Amino acid sequence: MNFVEVIARKRDGFELTSAEIQAFVRGATHGHIGDEQLVAMLMAICIRGATARETQDLVETMRDSGASWKLGQAVPDAVDKHSTGGVGDSVSLVFAPLVAACGVPVVMMAGAGLAHTQGTLDKLAAIPGFRTVASSSEALDRLAKCGVSIAAQSEDIAPADRKLYLLRDVTGTVPSLPLIVASIMSKKLAVGARRLVLDVKCGSGAFCKTAETARQLADALMGVGQGAGVSLRCLITDMSQPLGDRLGCANEVRASLEVLSGAGDRRLRKLTVELGVEALELAGKTPEAARAELERRLADGSALTRWAEVIRTHGGDPDESRLARPSRTVPVQARRSGFVAAIDGEGLGWIAVTLGAGRRRQTDHIDLAAGLRVHARVGDRVEPGQPMATLEVGDRAVEPDVLASRACAAFRIEDEAPPKTPLILARLGGVA
Ligand code: URA
Repeated sequence: MNFVEVIARKRDGFELTSAEIQAFVRGATHGHIGDEQLVAMLMAICIRGATARETQDLVETMRDSGASWKLGQAVPDAVDKHSTGGVGDSVSLVFAPLVAACGVPVVMMAGAGLAHTQGTLDKLAAIPGFRTVASSSEALDRLAKCGVSIAAQSEDIAPADRKLYLLRDVTGTVPSLPLIVASIMSKKLAVGARRLVLDVKCGSGAFCKTAETARQLADALMGVGQGAGVSLRCLITDMSQPLGDRLGCANEVRASLEVLSGAGDRRLRKLTVELGVEALELAGKTPEAARAELERRLADGSALTRWAEVIRTHGGDPDESRLARPSRTVPVQARRSGFVAAIDGEGLGWIAVTLGAGRRRQTDHIDLAAGLRVHARVGDRVEPGQPMATLEVGDRAVEPDVLASRACAAFRIEDEAPPKTPLILARLGGVA
């Protein structure tokens, strides 16, 4: 097969055959197709889209590009959770110990940051010693010891996604519904949990900017999961501003510790509890009983204690004082009075990346201390000179004043208070 012709067919809007999709995915997995052709195909899919059949072929071929852990057979009540990617989204770090403390085992395959979003894998790297590389037997061992397994996408799980994920990250080819569906569901199905809670983000900090595309993504993810016999719940949630008040690796670990200690950012806490309710409902609890138990585990310290056990079981040190700290901070002040009408989450996400909390090239190293704190949220009243955010600068050479000015522009200030946007925009449920 001449792969240039396959790229040209997708470029011109034709539906690819199953054999052509397989050639693409296998070429990515085994290195038969060079990066330049892979990226050309990714961009063609990004622009032209993919049919439901092409998307299903992508999911299945990417799932089968590596091993199948079948964790659901060994631990049928284990639940997996995945977010489509946002800003200030430390939910996974709270969800895992919290849901496990309620007696439901949690298995997660964590990813590195994509584009302007920060990934769970990068945040966990801020915890000294935390090891996410795991085989299926290690994952089972960790589940038995602490009720949680958080693994990096190892060589053997969906290696095609591993390769394509890295290319998409640095080539502007992330925001494509079929590519996101294939990336997420190939990993989920390869790990094999029978229960899955999805958080589809919608808004300025998400890959889906509109309610319509978020709904399409949610429907596509649910359709693939249900077709594979997975019991799923999905929340479509607001990302029209950063979820929590901290961006960056060590920073988001701190944000999660605050929530696990029974306090913390209100929106981060609320969304984690709501996703936890979905997980506990899949385990057979009523929503009322689930919510009450999750709140109790946060209030009585058992979720925090469980997090320390999870960290130790993964080889890490739970001592918060060992988290990296910024070398300097730069305030971002309001220039006028008014109400915060909107926050450009993607803009703030890219500023965090530029500071060092993410990668602009595959070879970039992450600065664990870098990030930013958000003080003003949508709807808040601000006065001139009031700090709306603080940049936290690590060891990367940056121009803090330029970044502070960009951060200031990410906050739209208006005279009138904006209408309130709910955090949970939709709930979709289904049990296979
Ligand atoms: N999360 C993933 O794992 N893949 C994507 O493409 C987007 C979010």
